[in-house]
Amino acid sequence: MSLSRGVAEADALVDSFGRHARKLRMSVTDRCNFRCNFCMPQHPTWMESQELLSFDEMTRIARILARLGVTNIRLSGGEPLMRREVEKLVGMLVRVPGIRAVSMTTNGAILKEKASALKENGLHCVTLSLHSLKAERYHEITGTRGVFSKVMEGLDEARRVGFERVKVNCVVTRGCNEDEIGDFARLAHDAEVSVRFIEYMPFDGSKVWDPEKVVSGEEILGKVGELYPLVPLEREHGATARHYKFSDDSDGEVGVITSMTRPFCSDCDRVRLKADGKVVPCLFSVEEFDIKPLLRGGAGDSELAAFLRKSFLLKSEGVEKMLEQHVELKHVRPMYTIGG
Ligand code: SAM
Ligand code: SF4
Repeated sequence: MSLSRGVAEADALVDSFGRHARKLRMSVTDRCNFRCNFCMPQHPTWMESQELLSFDEMTRIARILARLGVTNIRLSGGEPLMRREVEKLVGMLVRVPGIRAVSMTTNGAILKEKASALKENGLHCVTLSLHSLKAERYHEITGTRGVFSKVMEGLDEARRVGFERVKVNCVVTRGCNEDEIGDFARLAHDAEVSVRFIEYMPFDGSKVWDPEKVVSGEEILGKVGELYPLVPLEREHGATARHYKFSDDSDGEVGVITSMTRPFCSDCDRVRLKADGKVVPCLFSVEEFDIKPLLRGGAGDSELAAFLRKSFLLKSEGVEKMLEQHVELKHVRPMYTIGG
């Protein structure tokens, strides 16, 4: 049997549950200019600079993964714009045969300065993380002062330079910003952007995660629905979010990423690569597989492909099963090391 894009089944990245990897989440650095309270521990430990993959190494892995059926890459971090000349990496990745789209998730602090270069180098889509529309609260959440207006300017600039899509991600936590759900819905409706609400996950690195602080997608949709009637959109295969459009003529959208209350593990098509070369088959998996020794030890492409296939084969069934079996969710790794 062959896959739709002509990758032979035997050559594809398939896990033991028959799921195929099509999307790569590539973290390019663990450094960040923010200290979001749901992501960064109080005392982060950083990767050594010589541990970080070079752009050539990242592109080589992307090329091999593309041969195995991966079509989409999302760059993340830490803060991806903190990686010097990351736009050059974008340019290298968009030229990899088989890669259809390269996107980025960013906190937006230096997006205003970088948006044009990213666009010129071929970045398709930008997702801006924005957890409050109130400057003072935004600064509290991100642990960083004086950046709110810069982030909003970054959003404007991203929209101006004309990426295929600009989305906004908002992590909702109880007792912090759930009172702003309506304001974010209004932003989606009036500014006609896609706003996705993310359920708070146990990846804060400080072990302060509390299930009581998770605001469910259902509750979020209920609040949005009180303001605007919503029409569900068909969920794409492998999508983490459920999307809705407004019933009037606004082109905006809202989405919920229900990783905690209604995850979509059964058709998950993502594989993750950390900035130091660790392959992570699932966000919740404890295991990581270090490709760097092979990469720097002179391995050929077929050996690297075999390593990637073997790592992905060990992808766990996912958080859905863990929740069903009441497995205690561990604070596996802080989000800044894996990129979401
Ligand atoms: N620094 C970039 C940013 O914030 O957009 C990219 C890296 S960040 C780790 C990727 C995404 O993970 C962001 O949208 C962030 O809000 C989200 N995130 C971080 N910690 C989270 C948590 N504990 N639960 C849910 N989402 C989280
Ligand atoms: Fe940095 Fe993004 Fe984590 Fe915030 S969520 S601390 S911006 S990596």
